[in-house]
Amino acid sequence: MIKIKNLEASIEEKEILKGINLEIPNGEVHVIMGRNGSGKSTLANVIAGNEAYDVDGGSIHMNGDDITEMSIENRALQGLFLCFQYPVAIPGVSMAYFLRAALNAQNKHAGKEEMDALQFLTSAKKILSGLGLDDSFLKRSINDGFSGGEKKKSEILQLLMLNPKLAVLDETDSGLDVDALRTVAKGVNEFKNEQNSVLIITHYQRLLEYIKPDVVHIMIDGKIVKTGDMALVHEVEKNGYAGLAK
Ligand code: ADP
Ligand code: MG
Repeated sequence: MIKIKNLEASIEEKEILKGINLEIPNGEVHVIMGRNGSGKSTLANVIAGNEAYDVDGGSIHMNGDDITEMSIENRALQGLFLCFQYPVAIPGVSMAYFLRAALNAQNKHAGKEEMDALQFLTSAKKILSGLGLDDSFLKRSINDGFSGGEKKKSEILQLLMLNPKLAVLDETDSGLDVDALRTVAKGVNEFKNEQNSVLIITHYQRLLEYIKPDVVHIMIDGKIVKTGDMALVHEVEKNGYAGLAK
């Protein structure tokens, strides 16, 4: 699915990623944990193709295609989806308008027909009710005046509607109460199947009690220093990152 080799990246001349190697096969959920400032969001942004970051070395392949230099739009069309740590508000653009435009762009790329308004509403409403959101949510401007929980649910709604091949969730769990956390986890669990993959970025164990990861990676200072399973999460929870830095 996704294969990252010796990835080095910087922002404003500052070296952040110092040789990341990561491979996520279809059907697997991987987690990256690490302290603040270790480069997790940088990795998410570089995978997504954010042009504010410079790739200084290495490569990213998705389904065998080299996407290292690909535009953000084309990566999305290839099936890449990033849930932001801090989703931006877009006043004046409704969730419905945005989601339908995104879906139709995807359908067009895949050579499929556009979704009509009724088909769109039917599938959106089904997902909304699963997230415990009212249908009126679709009429609201994207993230405008949304509570923390609503913002994250809005990301999960997008995830489930767009049904990407790889979902990268950057700290989707931060600032959520237990109910919102469960809803987010339920959405992600609903999303995952044998054909797609999930990369969860977090520095808490909480979300991982609801979404069972297959592989856990620890990132320190722009490098993956250790890879393991759920036991590694418990080790970090108990002893912190300090012991792993060596
Ligand atoms: P994490 O998500 O693990 O907390 P980040 O990837 O956000 O880490 O940040 C890694 C490092 O890159 C930090 O030292 C941070 O200050 C720096 N950094 C991130 N974004 C920028 C930016 N836009 N300009 C300058 N430095 C940045
Ligand atoms: Mg971050």
